[in-house]
Amino acid sequence: GSGSGAVNNDLFTVSSPNVTYTDNDITSKYTYRTTAVTKNANGKLTAANKEMAYEFKTDRRIPKTGVMLVGWGGNNGTTITAGILANKRNLEWETREGKRAANYYGSVIMGSTIKLGNDAATGEEIHVPMHDMLPMVHPNDLVVGGWDISGMNLADAMDRSQVLEPGLKTLVRKELAALKPLPSIYYPDFIAANQEARVDNVIPGTTASTAHVEQIRKDIRDFKQANGLNTVIVQWTANTERYADMVAGVNDTADNLLAAIEAGHTEVAPSTIFAVASILEGVPFINGSPQNTFVPGAIELAQRHSAFIGGDDFKSGQTKMKSALVDFLISSGIKLTSIASYNHLGNNDGMNLNSQKQFRSKEISKSNVVDDMVAANSVLYKEGEHPDHCVVIKYMPAVGDNKRALDEYYGEIFLGGHQTISIFNVCEDSLLASPLIIDLVIVAEMMTRIGWRLAGSEGEFKGFHSVLSILSFMLKAPLVPQGTPVVNALAKQRSCMNNIFRACVGLEPENDMTLEHKLF
Ligand code: NAD
Repeated sequence: GSGSGAVNNDLFTVSSPNVTYTDNDITSKYTYRTTAVTKNANGKLTAANKEMAYEFKTDRRIPKTGVMLVGWGGNNGTTITAGILANKRNLEWETREGKRAANYYGSVIMGSTIKLGNDAATGEEIHVPMHDMLPMVHPNDLVVGGWDISGMNLADAMDRSQVLEPGLKTLVRKELAALKPLPSIYYPDFIAANQEARVDNVIPGTTASTAHVEQIRKDIRDFKQANGLNTVIVQWTANTERYADMVAGVNDTADNLLAAIEAGHTEVAPSTIFAVASILEGVPFINGSPQNTFVPGAIELAQRHSAFIGGDDFKSGQTKMKSALVDFLISSGIKLTSIASYNHLGNNDGMNLNSQKQFRSKEISKSNVVDDMVAANSVLYKEGEHPDHCVVIKYMPAVGDNKRALDEYYGEIFLGGHQTISIFNVCEDSLLASPLIIDLVIVAEMMTRIGWRLAGSEGEFKGFHSVLSILSFMLKAPLVPQGTPVVNALAKQRSCMNNIFRACVGLEPENDMTLEHKLF
């Protein structure tokens, strides 16, 4: 990329013959070590070490970055916009519990640390903020914009959302009042009928069209130009759509999808139009809702244009707990036999999910989240065996954005005993989701600046696969390159991110063996 920002004032540098720093780049020679297993005819396995030598190159120049949210006037959109402003201006405000100050809690990039190593003198663990592992955009520097089918200015939309404290709202009101979402595309059949009342800001036309794609592309270019940006990330945080039907010849290949858009086919969703427009503009597109935006044709198109896509569905509350808890239970050798998950929520997302077809999208994305952990344990589960898993969502206006997630985990323990874990999780939904949206932007942008090649190849550095599965930690139903395994286990997703970041600066993966504290 054509970065404009100053070179980061690095918190650490790596001292190694395999790592070079220039003003523009960090280059690392990195040996990736895995284990290759062969299944033998007699049912036995042979494991062998395997090595691949790669070079990674990270552009250190941090670009001026914009994020365009589809659904900007919603709960997440207004919360992110106010939250970034609050941080940028170091705001403090009164609440009934006293003064509160802006922060980025709940953002894995801004709020968490990563172990760099052990102090050479004392052996003490040294941790650095995740944000300092590699040159990343700071969220305070993001320019936020976007589209909404409701034309309400962001200040009024913030009130409508009922998420933020009055003290904070007063401090950001004036700036938010000046922000108004761009008109969006609205195909009524894709979201719940109960959303119609807020629709007053649309581009004409109620089925897919090339004109819609071109308008969205133009909006992205205009936003870039108007704000002097080097790069833009587009993210869907609009209502959950129904699934698009998979129709042969319509959404199955890139060419068919483009032709279906041209022909105005009714099984092309607005979110897919945004994805296609972003791909054609070469800007990363992330889907924060559960629907099948990334039909095979959209994925093929992304690969054709080497554009990044990521999805699906932010992982903020119930599922995040689930992907940690189930990992813990099954890896403890406890045979989880059922998960019963109830939610009730009272925000606009809840109202939209009150409609069966939209609920179905959410049900699907919430359903598969334990599959990999179950499949990994052949001691507890026979081939095809699976815990019962049921997900219920109800609309309860009174609780607003404070979603209630009630889960019961029931499992078999030693000698026929049982363990029952019951969880009551009050998720302040948009306050949990907004920092994830920021993480997705930061990591997706950074991935556009990281290239790789086989060591010694002297060829061009190329990008990671179009489907950015490194974003899985933040997503409920991670999209992965076709034919590759989906990882839902939260700890694995985290360690994937940590260790890829480490590899880019030529550091070995964190293995947690701490032999130096055991062998002396
Ligand atoms: P919201 O209903 O408050 O906001 C959605 C916004 O999208 C609304 O302002 C609506 O007018 C707008 N919209 C609908 N269709 C549009 C279109 N075609 N183009 C442009 N704008 C459109 O919802 P929210 O609470 O902000 O959540 C947004 C999405 O994120 C939902 O789909 C939700 O399921 C998903 N999600 C949220 C969380 C969370 O908040 N914890 C977690 C996972 C997923």
